Amino acid sequence: MTLRIQTERLVLDRLVAADAPALSAQRSDPAIGAFQGWAQPYSVEAATSLIASAGGPLPPGKDDAAVQLAIRQPDGTLVGDLMVGPWPGGAHAVEIGITVGVSFQGRGYATEAVRAIAGHLFAGDIQKLIAYVATGNAASLRVFDRIGFRREGLLRDSYRLANGELVDEVVFGLTRSDWSRPAHDFDIIAFDADDTLWQSEDGFHHAERRFVELVAPHVSTGIDVKAALTAVERKNLHVLGYGVKAFGLSMVEAAITLSDGTIPAPVIAQLVEIARAMLTEPVHLLADVPEVLEAVGKTHRIVLITKGDLVHQSAKIETSGLAHHFSDIEIVMEKDAATYSRIITRLGVPPSRFCMVGNSVRSDILPVLALGASAVHVPYPLLWDLEEAPADHGRQFAELESLSQLPAWLTASTTAPSE
Ligand SMILES: [Mg+2]
Repeated sequence: MTLRIQTERLVLDRLVAADAPALSAQRSDPAIGAFQGWAQPYSVEAATSLIASAGGPLPPGKDDAAVQLAIRQPDGTLVGDLMVGPWPGGAHAVEIGITVGVSFQGRGYATEAVRAIAGHLFAGDIQKLIAYVATGNAASLRVFDRIGFRREGLLRDSYRLANGELVDEVVFGLTRSDWSRPAHDFDIIAFDADDTLWQSEDGFHHAERRFVELVAPHVSTGIDVKAALTAVERKNLHVLGYGVKAFGLSMVEAAITLSDGTIPAPVIAQLVEIARAMLTEPVHLLADVPEVLEAVGKTHRIVLITKGDLVHQSAKIETSGLAHHFSDIEIVMEKDAATYSRIITRLGVPPSRFCMVGNSVRSDILPVLALGASAVHVPYPLLWDLEEAPADHGRQFAELESLSQLPAWLTASTTAPSE
């Protein structure tokens, strides 16, 4: 039976004998061979015999040969090939694999072709697609992440390259129910902690006011004591990191510097005491937080991602009484795109299934959106100067007045028609 799957820019159909020279040329490219087990150059004879053996039923039953489809531009030019192979575990699943010629890479063709074959196979009786991707093949990992495959495991020393090197592979799986879910049906809701779940900036603002009261009498007039403290904090950020201990050291440093070394020791002692009091201050939860976590936790896996000092953040989590809601708790040094990417990968979900909730556009929203994940901004009335986001970030995202609106927002975004 003739097979022809048309997408926006591509056609998927059967490879024919006339494709052998083009297939041979593509598979002989060293950049393609870097993640493949076949010997190079890949001869026209090898391509001819692959094409001859790959014309069986689609989808293949568990004892059938793998089917090898052509990925073409509308004028027939071969872009690459797509394998649909039998799954030894049963006919309900198939393995897929894709190769796109080097000169056609970087245009989203692989994503478009895999989406097309997934739609075709799920319209039939197939329940699951499985794919194996070498851990070093970043472009291909992104294709399967983007489509919504889950990372189900890691196969170490999974196959041998032609040069003898052993390669690890990520096992990707996409089930029929994964495929039919709306685009914004999140698997994981991640929460920021400070000023999202509990008060934090109030304590810092209070301490800054005390700092100005205590230090200003020892500083020449005309100096903005508060601004000078922030400048010291900014300078120290890459050495001291975030949190109360870093703030305490910056207060001491700023007091000594601003007073030209004349600050009395009892004032230094008071600054140290302010930091100590902040570290032992009980956690003040924001309104409705336990109820919201309870509600969201019924329908989603929820995790906590907070940055700052390990000892203090751990103590706050411990005494908040909230820890049991979270499957994972991450205390990180910096909330940037690299950190979020590492966490999302470790959690085993594609970015499209991950949503971050937090009060800082700079730390909780922008780096998450940059990865193709989602984020919801719940502003807090106070924001630390160093958390100010660039005004021209140009990003659109949801903003809620309070955390109590989150369960309804999640329901609405899940049932909204996806694009
Ligand atoms: Mg925060």
